[in-house]
Amino acid sequence: MLGSMLRPVGSHIPAPAGEAFDGAMPWDSRYQTELMDSGTAALSMAVGLAIEARGVSGTPEVILPAYGCPDLVAAVLFQGARPVLVDFGQEGPNLSLDGVRNAVSPDTVAVVAVDFLGLHENLESLSTLLDESGVWLIEDSAQAFPPASSTSGLADCVVLSFGRGKPINLMGGGALLVRREHSHFAAPLIEQLPRNEVSLGPVWHLKRVVFNLLLSRVFYGLLVRLSVLGLGKTEYVPLEGITRSELPWKLLNNGVNAHRHRAYLIKTYLDAFSGLDERGWLGPQRLARESKSNSNSIDFDDGKLPRLLRFPLLAPSEELRDRALDALNQAGIGANSLYGIPLPAIDGLQAQFEVTERAFPNASEFSRRLLTLPIHEDVTSDDIGRMANILGCLR
Ligand SMILES: *Cc1c(COP(=O)(O)O)cnc(C)c1O
Repeated sequence: MLGSMLRPVGSHIPAPAGEAFDGAMPWDSRYQTELMDSGTAALSMAVGLAIEARGVSGTPEVILPAYGCPDLVAAVLFQGARPVLVDFGQEGPNLSLDGVRNAVSPDTVAVVAVDFLGLHENLESLSTLLDESGVWLIEDSAQAFPPASSTSGLADCVVLSFGRGKPINLMGGGALLVRREHSHFAAPLIEQLPRNEVSLGPVWHLKRVVFNLLLSRVFYGLLVRLSVLGLGKTEYVPLEGITRSELPWKLLNNGVNAHRHRAYLIKTYLDAFSGLDERGWLGPQRLARESKSNSNSIDFDDGKLPRLLRFPLLAPSEELRDRALDALNQAGIGANSLYGIPLPAIDGLQAQFEVTERAFPNASEFSRRLLTLPIHEDVTSDDIGRMANILGCLR
């Protein structure tokens, strides 16, 4: 149908009814779970705990990747800490280990390792590098489920998000996972946070129905044409406060079950796109190669690939990436370039950093070549064939 559009990301919100609640999460033996208002609030609280644990004399510093979600910066600034950006390594969305080594100072309290679109950061190498330094390793798993630390226990804290466009969409909320050895120290600090009850009343149910309806191709296409989603804009929004959330466990449990059972055509994707390598495109297997964490990830779908939130590709050039985006969107496929630019170039953040994006050549290059394709439950093998055809025709 004219104007219909396959949404880039976003899964159906589960019903809170149904299956008996078992409440067990794959990380329970290693981590204590605290439900929070949002992923950003959970990340900020993780930073706050690291600051308390470290007790540095100067302004606390937190190491972040130079390309990422602006909420990372919001979470750090809310704690009165200073975000210190580090470039990616070559070609992958992982922190440069040399970069991290050089950025660590006596005031560093934490390194935030982001699982980009589901690909896990290199937690093994980061944790070896930080060994005995007392600097906390925080796994930001807002885009990955389950987090790599579920099985490895490597991160001191793990952050989850249940916002729209995340692996488990509960119309908002997040979780802070605190490694059990820190529970005693963290509990009183977390206890001080205000609580916010989430009621699953008629308004919630109505919102759910409307939200799920808007995920359809026809409605999503309409929203894009009306420009009501503010698409394509990445903006910095400061964090205003941190609240715990009384999100019903049953809802989270159903979200986890729905995630486990929904369609995920990664094999179809990898087959359809296999010819692109020779033409200079890099796919998720290549982008995952640097990360050892992927090899002990649970929920394997293809060899070393953990479950992806979107299907990422690096185009041979920015010019080809931009033409691919146009062609795909013309064909009703919600492809995008995600944040588009590194953090120091984002509106509202330019004044925050003493350096520009030029200080981060790998992250800048990555941002100019990244293309992400939908891989949610409503993507069909026909869609994947069409996407492969469109990219295959570009010269
Ligand atoms: C979305 C996201 C967040 C913030 O989560 P919210 O629940 O939207 O506040 C943090 N980090 C990453 C990597 C994200 O993708």
